[in-house]
Amino acid sequence: MSATRPRRLVLLGSPVSHSLSPRFQGAALKAAGVDATYEALDVAPHQLLPVLHALRADGVAGNVTIPHKRAVHDACDDLTPMARAAGAVNTFWCDGDRLVGDNTDVGGFDAAVTALGSRKDGAVVACVGAGGAAAAVCLATASWAGARVRLVGRNPAAMEALAARFPHVTVADPATWWQGVTLAVNATPVGMTDDRLPFDPARLPADGDVMDLVYRVDETPLVRAARRSGRRAIDGLEMLLQQGALAFERWFGVVPDLAAMRAAVARHG
Ligand code: NAP
Repeated sequence: MSATRPRRLVLLGSPVSHSLSPRFQGAALKAAGVDATYEALDVAPHQLLPVLHALRADGVAGNVTIPHKRAVHDACDDLTPMARAAGAVNTFWCDGDRLVGDNTDVGGFDAAVTALGSRKDGAVVACVGAGGAAAAVCLATASWAGARVRLVGRNPAAMEALAARFPHVTVADPATWWQGVTLAVNATPVGMTDDRLPFDPARLPADGDVMDLVYRVDETPLVRAARRSGRRAIDGLEMLLQQGALAFERWFGVVPDLAAMRAAVARHG
């Protein structure tokens, strides 16, 4: 937990104008009666280190998103075991003059799977993509008894490198990857700004669940297609809220009002 209660919180990324974090973190601060602000800062990669230096001098805490999670990991003085294992930081705070990095994407994914109601122990997870979000999926599932992960994607070298880090993760056979899958996860940006599907959910077993890590104002094409085919599905908004709730706990030592956070980003109509 943050040693000093932060008065200012920021989201570091680029672009960040689309981010929902200021809305739901603002609602969490208000509900908790905490006198602090949360704002998105669009930071170009070459500005990151000077910006972090200034934030540290002012005791600022916050979140990190694309493309800075690795660079902030490298810039932190101290890392939690989860941030170290992930090789990425999405949550930071100051402890005196030390910058501390954590990773709540892993716990956020785990909590979103709970919300979806998908089985964890013995799960057979197909994860499409092999970047930072896929690494969070691999880390979260490592604590599920007997769970296995198959990586599906277009980048064999990245999939092999990720699978080599975890005994329960393998690179899928492209001809059969969907067989016996209990949960299929989209960990690519496919469907974020277009109507393409990262995979056809109708291929999954009838009781296979779908989680899209992408979120957008309307439902994602994958979630719509999965529900049309009779499968349970949620998009990345749940994981986003859950990683944000865990970050709030790190900063302030209290569980935030998740209902207030959810209401702040609720879809209407
Ligand atoms: P990343 O590290 O850049 O990895 C992206 C992965 O997707 C890579 O494996 C990449 O393959 C693959 N990919 C990219 N474009 C593709 C395409 N057109 N077709 C097939 N594969 C493609 O990004 P990330 O941090 O893992 O994020 C992935 C997605 O998850 C993003 O949409 C992000 O917004 C979302 N996300 C959501 C949350 C949440 O809280 N909901 C948290 C983290 C991430 P190559 O290596 O071949 O490029």
